[in-house]
Amino acid sequence: MAYQLPPLPYPNNALEPYIDAATMEIHHDRHHKAYVDNLNKAVAGTPLESLELAALIGNLPGVPEGIRGPVRNNGGGHWNHSFFWEIIAPGKGGAPKGPLAEAIVSAFGDFESFKAKFEAAGLGRFGSGWVWLLASDGKLHIGSTANQDNPLMGKEISGVAGHPLLAVDVWEHAYYLKYQNKRADYLKAWWNVVDWDAVSARFQA
Ligand code: MN
Repeated sequence: MAYQLPPLPYPNNALEPYIDAATMEIHHDRHHKAYVDNLNKAVAGTPLESLELAALIGNLPGVPEGIRGPVRNNGGGHWNHSFFWEIIAPGKGGAPKGPLAEAIVSAFGDFESFKAKFEAAGLGRFGSGWVWLLASDGKLHIGSTANQDNPLMGKEISGVAGHPLLAVDVWEHAYYLKYQNKRADYLKAWWNVVDWDAVSARFQA
Protein backbone atom coordinates (compact mmCIF):
# COMPACT_ATOMS: atom_id res chain seq x y z
CA MET A 1 0.00 0.00 0.00
CA ALA A 2 1.53 3.27 -1.11
CA TYR A 3 1.62 6.34 1.13
CA GLN A 4 -1.53 8.44 0.79
CA LEU A 5 -2.28 12.16 0.80
CA PRO A 6 -4.81 12.74 3.61
CA PRO A 7 -7.67 15.08 2.72
CA LEU A 8 -7.62 18.50 4.36
CA PRO A 9 -9.92 18.24 7.40
CA TYR A 10 -11.69 21.51 6.40
CA PRO A 11 -12.34 23.51 3.22
CA ASN A 12 -9.50 25.50 1.64
CA ASN A 13 -11.09 28.80 2.69
CA ALA A 14 -11.85 27.75 6.29
CA LEU A 15 -8.82 29.48 7.79
CA GLU A 16 -9.50 32.86 6.16
CA PRO A 17 -8.54 35.60 6.79
CA TYR A 18 -5.45 34.29 8.57
CA ILE A 19 -4.45 31.75 5.92
CA ASP A 20 -5.95 32.37 2.49
CA ALA A 21 -7.72 29.75 0.40
CA ALA A 22 -5.23 29.90 -2.49
CA THR A 23 -2.32 29.23 -0.13
CA MET A 24 -4.14 26.29 1.44
CA GLU A 25 -5.03 24.81 -1.93
CA ILE A 26 -1.51 25.06 -3.33
CA HIS A 27 0.05 23.99 -0.03
CA HIS A 28 -2.04 20.86 0.34
CA ASP A 29 -2.94 19.86 -3.22
CA ARG A 30 0.46 20.56 -4.77
CA HIS A 31 3.22 20.78 -2.15
CA HIS A 32 2.00 18.09 0.24
CA LYS A 33 0.91 15.91 -2.69
CA ALA A 34 4.37 16.23 -4.24
CA TYR A 35 5.99 14.98 -0.99
CA VAL A 36 3.68 11.94 -1.02
CA ASP A 37 4.24 11.24 -4.73
CA ASN A 38 8.01 11.61 -4.46
CA LEU A 39 8.12 9.45 -1.33
CA ASN A 40 6.19 6.72 -3.16
CA LYS A 41 8.58 6.99 -6.09
CA ALA A 42 11.60 6.66 -3.80
CA VAL A 43 10.39 3.52 -1.99
CA ALA A 44 8.61 1.85 -4.92
CA GLY A 45 9.41 -1.85 -5.14
CA THR A 46 11.21 -1.93 -1.76
CA PRO A 47 9.99 -3.38 1.57
CA LEU A 48 9.87 0.21 2.89
CA GLU A 49 6.62 0.70 0.97
CA SER A 50 4.66 -1.16 3.63
CA LEU A 51 6.12 0.60 6.71
CA GLU A 52 4.13 3.04 8.81
CA LEU A 53 5.33 6.55 7.94
CA ALA A 54 6.54 7.23 11.50
CA ALA A 55 8.52 3.98 11.51
CA LEU A 56 10.06 4.84 8.13
CA ILE A 57 11.30 8.31 9.06
CA GLY A 58 12.08 7.20 12.61
CA ASN A 59 14.79 4.88 11.30
CA LEU A 60 16.55 6.76 8.51
CA PRO A 61 19.86 4.93 9.11
CA GLY A 62 17.96 1.75 8.15
CA VAL A 63 17.00 3.23 4.78
CA PRO A 64 19.38 2.31 1.93
CA GLU A 65 21.80 5.16 1.29
CA GLY A 66 20.72 5.59 -2.32
CA ILE A 67 17.20 6.68 -1.32
CA ARG A 68 17.86 8.02 2.19
CA GLY A 69 17.89 11.67 1.07
CA PRO A 70 14.57 11.50 -0.81
CA VAL A 71 12.97 9.53 2.04
CA ARG A 72 14.20 12.09 4.59
CA ASN A 73 12.93 15.08 2.58
CA ASN A 74 9.67 13.65 1.25
CA GLY A 75 8.83 11.35 4.15
CA GLY A 76 9.49 14.26 6.51
CA GLY A 77 7.41 16.54 4.29
CA HIS A 78 4.53 14.07 4.30
CA TRP A 79 4.61 13.59 8.07
CA ASN A 80 5.07 17.29 8.90
CA HIS A 81 2.20 18.46 6.71
CA SER A 82 -0.16 15.70 7.89
CA PHE A 83 0.59 16.87 11.45
CA PHE A 84 0.26 20.56 10.56
CA TRP A 85 -3.28 20.24 9.12
CA GLU A 86 -4.39 18.60 12.36
CA ILE A 87 -3.16 21.20 14.84
CA ILE A 88 -4.81 24.10 13.04
CA ALA A 89 -8.54 24.51 12.46
CA PRO A 90 -11.18 27.14 11.80
CA GLY A 91 -12.69 29.04 14.75
CA LYS A 92 -9.81 28.24 17.09
CA GLY A 93 -6.95 30.32 18.49
CA GLY A 94 -7.18 31.74 22.00
CA ALA A 95 -5.13 30.17 24.74
CA PRO A 96 -4.51 26.64 25.99
CA LYS A 97 -6.20 25.39 29.17
CA GLY A 98 -5.59 22.85 31.88
CA PRO A 99 -2.37 20.86 32.24
CA LEU A 100 -0.95 22.17 28.94
CA ALA A 101 -1.46 25.78 30.05
CA GLU A 102 0.27 24.96 33.36
CA ALA A 103 3.18 23.31 31.56
CA ILE A 104 3.59 26.37 29.32
CA VAL A 105 3.69 28.67 32.34
CA SER A 106 6.14 26.37 34.06
CA ALA A 107 8.49 26.28 31.04
CA PHE A 108 8.20 29.81 29.66
CA GLY A 109 6.84 32.02 32.46
CA ASP A 110 3.55 32.87 30.75
CA PHE A 111 1.66 32.31 27.51
CA GLU A 112 2.78 35.62 25.93
CA SER A 113 6.43 34.80 26.63
CA PHE A 114 5.96 31.38 25.08
CA LYS A 115 4.45 32.92 21.93
CA ALA A 116 7.25 35.47 21.67
CA LYS A 117 9.88 32.76 21.98
CA PHE A 118 8.12 30.54 19.44
CA GLU A 119 7.81 33.41 16.94
CA ALA A 120 11.48 34.32 17.47
CA ALA A 121 12.43 30.74 16.63
CA GLY A 122 10.37 31.04 13.44
CA LEU A 123 12.08 34.27 12.46
CA GLY A 124 15.46 32.81 13.35
CA ARG A 125 15.10 29.81 11.04
CA PHE A 126 17.07 30.89 7.98
CA GLY A 127 15.51 29.62 4.77
CA SER A 128 12.99 26.80 5.09
CA GLY A 129 11.97 24.72 8.05
CA TRP A 130 9.71 24.24 11.03
CA VAL A 131 9.37 25.36 14.64
CA TRP A 132 8.18 22.83 17.21
CA LEU A 133 6.72 22.76 20.68
CA LEU A 134 8.03 19.53 22.13
CA ALA A 135 7.45 17.56 25.32
CA SER A 136 10.16 15.52 26.99
CA ASP A 137 9.22 13.81 30.27
CA GLY A 138 6.24 16.15 30.62
CA LYS A 139 8.39 19.27 30.23
CA LEU A 140 8.02 21.61 27.28
CA HIS A 141 10.65 23.13 25.04
CA ILE A 142 10.88 24.82 21.66
CA GLY A 143 12.95 23.46 18.80
CA SER A 144 13.52 24.28 15.17
CA THR A 145 14.42 22.06 12.23
CA ALA A 146 15.66 22.76 8.72
CA ASN A 147 13.85 21.74 5.53
CA GLN A 148 11.46 18.83 6.29
CA ASP A 149 13.37 17.36 9.20
CA ASN A 150 11.40 16.55 12.34
CA PRO A 151 11.85 15.19 15.88
CA LEU A 152 10.90 11.64 14.88
CA MET A 153 14.17 11.43 12.95
CA GLY A 154 16.10 11.79 16.20
CA LYS A 155 18.38 14.48 17.54
CA GLU A 156 21.47 13.40 15.59
CA ILE A 157 19.70 13.93 12.29
CA SER A 158 17.21 16.71 12.99
CA GLY A 159 18.84 18.52 15.91
CA VAL A 160 15.71 18.21 18.06
CA ALA A 161 14.15 15.55 20.26
CA GLY A 162 10.88 15.13 22.10
CA HIS A 163 7.21 14.42 21.48
CA PRO A 164 5.81 16.96 18.97
CA LEU A 165 2.76 18.89 20.21
CA LEU A 166 2.63 21.86 17.86
CA ALA A 167 4.50 22.95 14.75
CA VAL A 168 4.50 25.86 12.37
CA ASP A 169 5.66 25.65 8.78
CA VAL A 170 7.96 28.57 7.96
CA TRP A 171 8.62 27.60 4.34
CA GLU A 172 7.73 30.56 2.11
CA HIS A 173 5.09 28.41 0.36
CA ALA A 174 3.14 28.47 3.66
CA TYR A 175 2.63 32.25 3.60
CA TYR A 176 4.14 34.05 0.61
CA LEU A 177 0.93 34.66 -1.40
CA LYS A 178 -0.69 36.60 1.44
CA TYR A 179 2.23 37.81 3.53
CA GLN A 180 5.08 37.99 0.97
CA ASN A 181 8.35 38.51 2.87
CA LYS A 182 6.59 39.34 6.16
CA ARG A 183 7.10 36.07 8.00
CA ALA A 184 6.57 37.86 11.32
CA ASP A 185 3.03 38.86 10.30
CA TYR A 186 2.23 35.30 9.23
CA LEU A 187 3.48 33.93 12.54
CA LYS A 188 1.38 36.43 14.53
CA ALA A 189 -1.76 35.67 12.45
CA TRP A 190 -1.18 31.91 12.67
CA TRP A 191 -1.98 31.83 16.42
CA ASN A 192 -5.62 32.53 15.44
CA VAL A 193 -5.94 29.09 13.86
CA VAL A 194 -4.05 26.98 16.40
CA ASP A 195 -6.31 24.25 17.78
CA TRP A 196 -5.26 24.11 21.42
CA ASP A 197 -7.67 21.23 22.10
CA ALA A 198 -5.75 19.14 19.56
CA VAL A 199 -2.43 20.25 21.08
CA SER A 200 -3.67 19.44 24.60
CA ALA A 201 -4.80 15.99 23.49
CA ARG A 202 -1.26 15.31 22.23
CA PHE A 203 0.21 16.57 25.50
CA GLN A 204 -2.04 14.33 27.61
CA ALA A 205 -1.37 11.28 25.44
MN1 MN B 1 4.72 23.39 3.76
